Amino acid sequence: MTTQTQRIQAENSLYIGGEWQTGVSTVANINPSDISQNLGNFAQADTAQVHQAISAAKHAQPTWEKTPLEQKQAVLQGIGDELIARCDELGRLLSSEEGKPFLEGRGEIYRAGQFFQYFAAEVLRQIGDSAASVRPGVSVEVTREAVGVVAIISPWNFPTATAAWKIAPALAFGNSVIWKPANLTPASAVALTEIIHRQGLPAGTFNLVLGSGSEVGNVLINSTEVNGVSFTGSVDTGRKIAAATAPNFVRCQLEMGSKNALIVADDADINIAVEATIAGSFSGAGQKCTASSRLVVMDGIHDAYVEALIKRMSELKVGHALKDGVFMGPVVDGKQLDANFDWIDTARQSGGELAFGGERLNLEHEGFYMSPTLFINTKNDWSVNQEEVFAPMASVIRVADLEEAIATTNDTRFGLTSGIITQSLRTSTLFKQQAQTGCVMVNLPTAGTDYHVPFGGRKESSFGPREQGQYAKEFYTVVKTAYQRAY
Ligand code: NAD
Repeated sequence: MTTQTQRIQAENSLYIGGEWQTGVSTVANINPSDISQNLGNFAQADTAQVHQAISAAKHAQPTWEKTPLEQKQAVLQGIGDELIARCDELGRLLSSEEGKPFLEGRGEIYRAGQFFQYFAAEVLRQIGDSAASVRPGVSVEVTREAVGVVAIISPWNFPTATAAWKIAPALAFGNSVIWKPANLTPASAVALTEIIHRQGLPAGTFNLVLGSGSEVGNVLINSTEVNGVSFTGSVDTGRKIAAATAPNFVRCQLEMGSKNALIVADDADINIAVEATIAGSFSGAGQKCTASSRLVVMDGIHDAYVEALIKRMSELKVGHALKDGVFMGPVVDGKQLDANFDWIDTARQSGGELAFGGERLNLEHEGFYMSPTLFINTKNDWSVNQEEVFAPMASVIRVADLEEAIATTNDTRFGLTSGIITQSLRTSTLFKQQAQTGCVMVNLPTAGTDYHVPFGGRKESSFGPREQGQYAKEFYTVVKTAYQRAY
């Protein structure tokens, strides 16, 4: 596989109109597990280069849309196959720049490959509808066509997976793409772009523009030549994108933050509850839109659950993302680490009791390490339970019964995921019916979803059509209704 390893120099890492380009400046890509390591100085695009990418995408799109289905299918299958074949190597790269442990980095690359393979098959499943007309002698066909040029703006916490679940359907349905990844994770973006480049798409069908949101992102969201913007990131940025695209009637799809609750019911199996909490609250160092940051625990099980959870937290190994046996790596950068400690102070000042963690960790390598952190005796209306914290930190909120647990779960401006641990069919059924979130989990962590079914939230967590599975076509296609009279 040596011929397939990353060849592109970081300085030459913009991909526009089928060519690699340098930018106007570079940014260093620092390994959060070991800040003495710079993974490369990656190119930053200027406004002119973003416009160049938009016009290349506009020019290429009709050719790509007309490309025969089996050719499109083969391109997507090839991208997926290569991601999966190289998941060890690319997983290491992803973990090095993002900080998640290698098994999570590898798993993300594998999952990204599955998104491409899934949408490779969807290329061949584009089947429309036909209807009888209300007018005699007339027939009606309903088909779908590409939207056109799609800008994809993605975050750093799932740098390859979030991009894959957008790029794959965009290409599958005949759109051209301009991808702006987060500036904290450019190496994974360049690696995926190299793989796409090798598939020999018409030049301009796929473009990579690295740079900040305020410059590169801003050009994309204000362009009248872009026909759709698919975004994953924070609510603040999502609001800016909605405000920029609406006056131009550019469609947008926004997947944003959340404040997910995991309910532990009185009758829960404590082991299942603890393992779901560990996976949901602390994997990925809690930097997941689906993380369980609120633990809504019923009176009858509260003390036993908290005791078992603290014991399990004390066994978690924090360390360098590439080291064996590490459960939790560093957080992504110094800014995030400082913000996390501000939240720890806020939770304390609100009256929360620090039950575990809350410490900066000085390990073998200098990095952005902290311990997994648990607060107990917290109230749902405190800011720490209402704002997205994005840290390996969870708060226990004690409740009397199921009614209060569900009301607490729903008492938030977010609505991506929620979960319950229970052995009762009645309890789980009521929860599934009443939880106001896009995804509901029973006896499972709030984080962790499949790739062939819709993903998305309610309230401020999502805006626009769902992502993933067959629902993805709602964003990446436009519907055409054709009427025809036979005589
Ligand atoms: P962010 O909003 O800061 O950045 C996301 C992307 O938007 C980046 O590429 C960034 O450069 C770009 N951007 C920033 N300002 C912009 C602007 N004015 N115009 C255009 N683009 C702009 O988010 P982040 O810190 O990278 O990611 C963390 C956030 O992502 C969290 O809130 C998390 O919950 C959310 N997230 C959501 C999901 C989901 O599916 N709901 C999945 C993963 C992450």
